[in-house]
Amino acid sequence: MHETAGHASLALRNAGISPRLSLAVRQNTAPAVLEEAAAFGRWWFDPETSQMALSRAAAGYLHVEAGFHDRMDNCFIAVVLDDLLPLVSYLSGRPHPSTSLDFRVISAVDGLHWLRMTPLPADPAHPHMVSGILVDITPIKHASMRERLGFELTEFLGGSHTLGDAITNVIQLICKNLGWDWGAYWSTEPSPQGATRLACKYFWHQPELDLASFGQESSSIFLAPGEGLVGSVWKSGKPDWVEDMVNDLRFSQRTNDRECRLWSGYVFPVTYVSADGHQHSPGVLEFYSCLSRQQEAQLPKLSATIGALIAQMARRLEHQATILHLAQVDELTGLSNRSHFYELVTQACAMSAKAKTSFALAFIDLDRFKPINDGFGHEAGNVVLREFAYRLRDLAPAGASVGRLGGDEFALLIPGDAMANAAGLVEDILRAASTPFAFEGVELTVSASVGVSTYPQCGETCPALLQSADAAMYRIKNNGRNGCCFDSVSSPNALAQQQSSIAQRLQLETDLHHALQGDEFFLTYQPIFNTFSQRMDAVEALIRWRRADGTLVPPDVFIPIAEQSHLIVHIGKWVVSRACRDLATLRAAHFKDLKVHVNMAASEFANSALPDELQAQVAAFGLAPHNLSLELTEGMLMKRPDQVIPVMRALRQLGFGISLDDFGMGHSSLALLKNLPISSLKIDRSFVRDLSQQRNDRAIVKTIVDLGRHMELEVIAEGVETAAQLEILQQSGCSLIQGYLLDRPMALADLLTKYPAGG
Ligand code: C2E
Ligand code: MG
Ligand code: MG
Repeated sequence: MHETAGHASLALRNAGISPRLSLAVRQNTAPAVLEEAAAFGRWWFDPETSQMALSRAAAGYLHVEAGFHDRMDNCFIAVVLDDLLPLVSYLSGRPHPSTSLDFRVISAVDGLHWLRMTPLPADPAHPHMVSGILVDITPIKHASMRERLGFELTEFLGGSHTLGDAITNVIQLICKNLGWDWGAYWSTEPSPQGATRLACKYFWHQPELDLASFGQESSSIFLAPGEGLVGSVWKSGKPDWVEDMVNDLRFSQRTNDRECRLWSGYVFPVTYVSADGHQHSPGVLEFYSCLSRQQEAQLPKLSATIGALIAQMARRLEHQATILHLAQVDELTGLSNRSHFYELVTQACAMSAKAKTSFALAFIDLDRFKPINDGFGHEAGNVVLREFAYRLRDLAPAGASVGRLGGDEFALLIPGDAMANAAGLVEDILRAASTPFAFEGVELTVSASVGVSTYPQCGETCPALLQSADAAMYRIKNNGRNGCCFDSVSSPNALAQQQSSIAQRLQLETDLHHALQGDEFFLTYQPIFNTFSQRMDAVEALIRWRRADGTLVPPDVFIPIAEQSHLIVHIGKWVVSRACRDLATLRAAHFKDLKVHVNMAASEFANSALPDELQAQVAAFGLAPHNLSLELTEGMLMKRPDQVIPVMRALRQLGFGISLDDFGMGHSSLALLKNLPISSLKIDRSFVRDLSQQRNDRAIVKTIVDLGRHMELEVIAEGVETAAQLEILQQSGCSLIQGYLLDRPMALADLLTKYPAGG
């Protein structure tokens, strides 16, 4: 370097310097204070010798010494490599005063700065010289960068980018404008365990640097809040610097920084406060450099702007998602609204046309909904709609879409692979509608009419399919409601058959509802005799259903249907109450120690309140729990042993009898039997039937009787029809007998008159 000479603003040394340059400098130099006040520096360049002179301010900008330099590249050691060649050729080409050139310089102390070189008009005294001024335009560049960031984000929001593109462009923009070699965005996501973690979703680095391994490492790890520099910045919500990445423990998870020679960096959080006042921290931005950069004063302010811009994007995305949600979702039920559901059906048509697959559309209309609205008010109606929507969504198979088309109209798009079970699904929907809804202690009941159409048989567009399903639905409405109709075009034979059996079952279910309300059930009692004491020990209550038209429906037909719906619980309650009332009558007459057996369904036993409810029932009729024996089958027990057995135990503790019905038909092991809280076994009719012919059955019956004796259980044989059967049973030690041989089920009045002296 050259030694300083006496001029106010410039260090000069004349030796080796062209006199022209020296003279030009002398004649054109402004005092240093002036330059500093005006924030510019001066430069002079002699294209013939390639020598250059810099004022103190200019030298400061370029991070070199002021004064004369033998070669111009000595002045440009801090210029970013990419900008060096354009700068050299610009100067050598004797630039015209109207053309200025922007270039970047980078230093460990100040980071990256933008400079603008502007030539001045040629001095007539030194026509061969080029001279001009140098200005630091970093603030202008930052302003335009902020503008550019805003533009990038707007572009993204306008839909021309994906979020990934937008963020990567933003990162790239920041790296280029602020001189970072690596930039990345870490966003929060839930870990498989549900905790928050940070993942490196997008990164960018200067293409000439080999940062691939650092990129790979970064995108393969997750950081917990507080972990590593990124995790701690996210947790604290404050920006942070790293001056020596290699020796900073916060980089222990990312060791490839050494290999890639990354040195220093700046990490800051992206945060925003949403309209509801919540602070959101969607992620963290990090920027690293291969230079050992020191803290830069302008960065915190700039990063706050960048963070705010990205946060604004996140907030707008959130806002857009909300708007989209509002546009697509029915507010009351949370299901897809009409227009969105139509869109989904249209999409399904297009996809099915392409893939040559089919799908079904179920149109559901609630029956008797209007009276609820009129009679109980809108809130009651809303409760029904919301609850039905909830049930519907619960029933929807994977890949199905559920919509509310308006009022009490719903629709279900059933994907091709779930169509085989469409009939079962519709049955479930009808049941979901007819299961009562609770509103302020009142049970509200509706039913549904469902019409089904299939793509492509009934139509190939959304309107055609809806119209066809709607027409099918109306056929049901006109046919007495609560049912389903498959559009005739879509019903091949199998479907038609399924449809008629569903229709029958559903009809039966509806009729059962009415039966309960209309008092169409009654009980018959079949005696159970003790053949040793010759007394009637108990009666089994057996339900009967006489329809309004007089026809009798056997329990084997309607009990399984009632069991599939909530109805069995209501029927069961009715049976218990009626049986208790009748038993009280019988005991008050002349059946002093008589007990009553009542058949129970599995779902009744799944109710943990059953023991208390039954205790209240027997007490209400002045009976004791041991006067009542509850019959349940092995099959029921095995269905939900974990729910049923604790209830059984509680019942036994209260003193109720529990009888295992149809014993021998199920699969209960002896080990299970030993631990069951039961008081009696009923040998299934099928073993009794062939007792006189089948030695096996005799052995089985004998074993069951012995087993019962060992376990102190009563053993009752049911279905005893012949004297031979009775004899064998008595020989085996079975004294409790029920069957047509001794008596058939009969009405209460018949029992009272047939056995005037009691059992
Ligand atoms: P279960 O509990 O095994 O009832 C015994 C069935 O055998 C009764 O048929 C009875 O009438 C019949 N039975 C009695 N003695 C003879 C006989 O000597 N020969 C023949 N062939 N049959 C005989 P029912 O009344 O038709 O009941 C059928 C089933 O319906 C019952 O089987 C029980 O599982 C169910 N059930 C009846 N009432 C109720 C009820 O109130 N609630 C529930 N959940 N189920 C009930
Ligand atoms: Mg029974
Ligand atoms: Mg039985």
